[in-house]
Amino acid sequence: MPTSKDLALQSLSARTKLEDVKEFIRLLGSYLEYLEALGVEAVPAYPEIKSFLDLDPLVPSTLPELEAEIRRCRKCPLHRTRTQAVPGEGPCPSEIMIVGEAPGREEDLEGRPFVGQAGRLLQKMLQAIGLERTQVYITNVVKCRPPGNRTPESEELRACRPYLARQIRLVKPKVILALGAVAARSLLLEEGPLSKLRGRPHRIDGLQVVVSYHPAYLLRNPAAKRAAWEDLQLFRKLLSGGGP
Ligand code: SF4
Repeated sequence: MPTSKDLALQSLSARTKLEDVKEFIRLLGSYLEYLEALGVEAVPAYPEIKSFLDLDPLVPSTLPELEAEIRRCRKCPLHRTRTQAVPGEGPCPSEIMIVGEAPGREEDLEGRPFVGQAGRLLQKMLQAIGLERTQVYITNVVKCRPPGNRTPESEELRACRPYLARQIRLVKPKVILALGAVAARSLLLEEGPLSKLRGRPHRIDGLQVVVSYHPAYLLRNPAAKRAAWEDLQLFRKLLSGGGP
């Protein structure tokens, strides 16, 4: 049975702890104000993303489970206008991964990436370096077609990119070929024109990335085919284990 002295001491101790917490909060507030005055962001709004693969929330799944999740996805407004989502296709694991921007009209109708004219050109490009489409995992950064084939908006890219990060972890490619500026910037987390990003190998978490023109762009600008051929040769060389 606690005596009245014990109860008095307990009450004093509880009050002291409360005062300590209040004092701590007051000091912390002053410290944060001090940092703010110095222009230091003490509590960043989002964790710093150092690599594209940091976008992966590390949700364990198999590729078929992930693809089914993508087909059900409603995380961004593109789900309202799509016919169907286009997760990607190809072997898993695969040494080779090709990443484009987003599905176009034919991809949206068929549910497969890189079909139609751009897909046929991609197939020819692969054959020119001794590869078949069936050896490659092919996908896009954004899995649903933007209306009118417009460039995906930043909100859509932000919502969809974690799926690509998860696909990369599951497919485990040795080399990724990023086709077009949207794919290149999304993977490398770098801004700048495609002409500044292509022509040299990049690395993301030990993966090698080569950047080149999107086949749809090459169909409109045949003069860029020479540069695309150089990119493909670099891609082939890295795949064979050679340096740039
Ligand atoms: S584009 Fe990506 S994030 Fe948006 S609804 Fe389709 S799968 Fe989901």
